[in-house]
Amino acid sequence: MDYYYSFKQYLKRLHHQQVWRIPLSTGYPCPNRIDGKSGCTFCDGSSFIAPYIREGADLETQIRKGIEFFGKKFKADLFYGYFQENSSTFGPLDILEGLYRIALEEERIAGLIISTRPDQVDARISAKIADLAREYGKPAWIELGLQSVHDVTLQRVNRNHTYADFRRAARDVKEAGLLLGIHMILGLPGETPHMMEESVGRLVGENRIDGIKFRLLDVIPGTPIADEYARVPEDFHHFTMEGYIGLICNLLELLPPDCVILRSFDYNPACNLFKEGEVQLSKDDLLRHVRYEFDRRGSRQGIRWSR
Ligand code: SF4
Repeated sequence: MDYYYSFKQYLKRLHHQQVWRIPLSTGYPCPNRIDGKSGCTFCDGSSFIAPYIREGADLETQIRKGIEFFGKKFKADLFYGYFQENSSTFGPLDILEGLYRIALEEERIAGLIISTRPDQVDARISAKIADLAREYGKPAWIELGLQSVHDVTLQRVNRNHTYADFRRAARDVKEAGLLLGIHMILGLPGETPHMMEESVGRLVGENRIDGIKFRLLDVIPGTPIADEYARVPEDFHHFTMEGYIGLICNLLELLPPDCVILRSFDYNPACNLFKEGEVQLSKDDLLRHVRYEFDRRGSRQGIRWSR
């Protein structure tokens, strides 16, 4: 293992070749945006949609176009179907099963990642997905958006679920025998770096997880959080680049050594959570600095992990 266990390493170990994720959509809306709900304050609902999904293509077409596009771009011929848009376990179970089957039938799709909310996962859907994964002999990940273990933060960003909801969903996923990945956001309003570390410490101390994704909050113009940012910028932690690199290393140290880092710590360069005048780094430079910092500390992922 390197300083941390990347998804790239994990996939190469499992499939002996590079594997790329192709974004897919079930076509169902986000349950946090219907029935009068206004959605998470940081989400603009469109920033993570592949063009072929935006065009409303059916799933077969999405798979074909995704394979064509990513196959050409990365010279790849093996993929994971990544149901990424909205909450991909939301909808009638028989229809969802049909959609997951379409993806699993494609021989160039070696596994599934199904992204969703904690309140959209229960024992029934977890068992169904686990059965399909076994039937096709392909791994299936459930990627649960948690963002923070702090209920005060979850409420502030209008997640409409609690950490307790997440714990129940995480248990259902693991009891079914599925792989569990978590999405966390760094820099949510009201949170200090200490609270972000506390989130990760509790997450891995109190739940069994297989992978994690960190994303620095993107204050997207037009979203409710952008208004909040304009009103109370002092409620948002502003990082120095050195502080951000230090935080990344601290979080990696807290994780289990075999927890897969599903996405590196890149951020949108337009993100305004860095202090004024801070030089922003490219993804490669950021990772290089994380390595320097681990070298300096004589440390790596997992060194402070305990349960
Ligand atoms: S972040 Fe996810 S749950 Fe929240 S509004 Fe956006 S799609 Fe819905």
